[in-house]
Order: sequence, then C-alpha cells, then structure tokens
Amino acid sequence: MITILNRCHRFRGFVYQHAYFSADKKSIEVTVRPRKGSAGVCSRCHLPAPGYDQLAERRFEFIPVWGFLLFLLYTMRRVDCRRCGVVAVEEVPWGDGKRTLTKAYMLFLARWARRLSWKETAEAFRTSWDKVFDAVEHVVTWGLEHRTLGQIDAIGVDEIQYSKGHKYLTLVYQIDLGVIRLLGSAKKEQSSPFGDSSPPWAKKSHQGSSSSAQTCGNPT
Ligand SMILES: [Zn+2]
Repeated sequence: MITILNRCHRFRGFVYQHAYFSADKKSIEVTVRPRKGSAGVCSRCHLPAPGYDQLAERRFEFIPVWGFLLFLLYTMRRVDCRRCGVVAVEEVPWGDGKRTLTKAYMLFLARWARRLSWKETAEAFRTSWDKVFDAVEHVVTWGLEHRTLGQIDAIGVDEIQYSKGHKYLTLVYQIDLGVIRLLGSAKKEQSSPFGDSSPPWAKKSHQGSSSSAQTCGNPT
C-alpha cells in the first residue's frame, strides 16, 4: 500500500509510515508523519514557520481501493508564525481546511459527479450525498478562484430541497450561449427560497431560470 502511495501520490515534506486494516476490517488506515527536519507550513501565509505544538490526530478520506475505504491518519501541527503574528494550524498538501476528504478524493468524486447524478456517485462509491456535494463545491470553488469568467448574460438560480427537513441547496449557473455551467452553490437551513441568506453571487439579477437541478452537477 505504501509503495503504491509513494509511486502515485507523494507529498513533499511528509512520509507514509504504516498501513494496516482498521479493527472492523472495512478500511485501510495509513499513518502519515512529517519528514524529519521539515517545518510546518502556516495556513494563513502559506510559508514555513517554526513548530508550536500538536493537535489530535485527524482522519482524511482518500480514494477507496479494492472496495476498502482508505484513510490517511495525521497528527496536525500548529506553527508559531511571526509573519502573521499568530499560532496557526499547519496547512497540509492533501487537505483543504476542515474538510474530511482529501483533495484527491474530492477531485475523484467531482469527476464522477459530472457523469452520474450526485446520488448515483454517492451510491457507487459507498459515500454520502453530502460528501459528493462537498467534493463538487471544493472543485467549483477552486475553479472560480483560478479562472476569469467571460461575459455572462443569463444566470439561473435554483433552490432544491435535500435531505430531510428544511435544508436547501442554492445552485447558480450560467445558461446562456447554449451552455449550462455551474457557477456556485451554497447550503442553508430553514430559510425561505431566495431569502436574505443567499450567497452574494446569487444576488445578481437573473434573466432566466431553470427547474432542472440535476443538470447542474457538472463542475466545469
Ligand atoms: Zn503565516
């Protein structure tokens, strides 16, 4: 397992330590530790900083292999960053803030969510709709931060109810020029559709709208 990970998914400054089955034999757990002498990276300024202390071990879900769930186990460090003037949690290359899925797994799920519905994607990989949502949101957010949008003439805004109770998902997508492209999404609970808590980018005036939420599962 470690040989495979080292071959296809190495992280600079970190090493895979041990791989073993979980107590219930349903998942494989791989412990990760910092490479000796490698400093933690401040999550605010993205630069190395001196160590401060350690937090509890975290589990990051990786792409499943041979039907087993795969988790990376890592004890997060905190760094004493003088540039930022704070003690901050380190940034790890496989994770994104507090999300429990690794970037690699989120990209994997988001790619499948372009071909299948989010529900089918969740079922196919024995994960939850929420995790597929997180994956698509991560990829869409990353895409929004790393590209410039051309002129968009028509924006569709949809709210779909999901899960049980009053949970709504707002989807905003481009519907002009013959394309339907997801521009962003946000979750909220117990609010009326198109209420005040709509995300800022949903407040643009929209000329058109569509009732088909299923077609918006495309992250590109
Ligand atoms: Zn910093």
